[in-house]
Amino acid sequence: MRQTGPACRICRREEKKLFLKGERCLKAKCAIDRERPIPGMHQKRKAKLSGYGEQLRAKQQIRRSYGLGERQFRKVFGIAAGKKGITSFNLLVLLEFRLDNIVYRSGLSLSRALARQMVTHGHIKVNGRRVNIPSYTLKAGDVISIKASNKSTAMTAKNIEVTATTNKIPEWISFDKESSKVQIVRLPEPGEIQAPADEQLVVELYSK
Ligand code: SF4
Repeated sequence: MRQTGPACRICRREEKKLFLKGERCLKAKCAIDRERPIPGMHQKRKAKLSGYGEQLRAKQQIRRSYGLGERQFRKVFGIAAGKKGITSFNLLVLLEFRLDNIVYRSGLSLSRALARQMVTHGHIKVNGRRVNIPSYTLKAGDVISIKASNKSTAMTAKNIEVTATTNKIPEWISFDKESSKVQIVRLPEPGEIQAPADEQLVVELYSK
């Protein structure tokens, strides 16, 4: 099951900005910027995390940031572990190459949650064909575009206006503002993906 519940509460639990709510995350209203406490911990003193605790929190932060449920995240990890190369890096590439993530990263959407909705509602095309599966895995060379309808183009134009000032598009993605087309130019290099936590801790957690 996908994560549900108020997004800001998830950030408060992780004590980190996970950017789950689009524009609000960049404003003074952000619960983390306002130093709101961990839910249910108004009085209690925080315990120091054990090695396991740190690994668990890192996994939760990465999983929640990309908006995956436990089972789905474990499945992606299994695929990453079965690939050649460094498992932690493979994991990040698989998460980054999800269609909902690329819609978000390119600035077509204000958050991954909204990107997911845009995909499921049929606003997004991959290589000219409509794809409504948020977890669809893209590959280098794929072109993502917006369905030609007034609703789709108006919605994305508004999003692009906002993200143009706030969003830094990764170098491995190209975005053509005129046509609103996005292309995955190449695979990212290690170090080019900024995860919300140390991805190596996830490997340690699942290797127990
Ligand atoms: Fe809420 Fe966004 Fe701030 Fe997280 S980063 S607490 S989702 S406003």
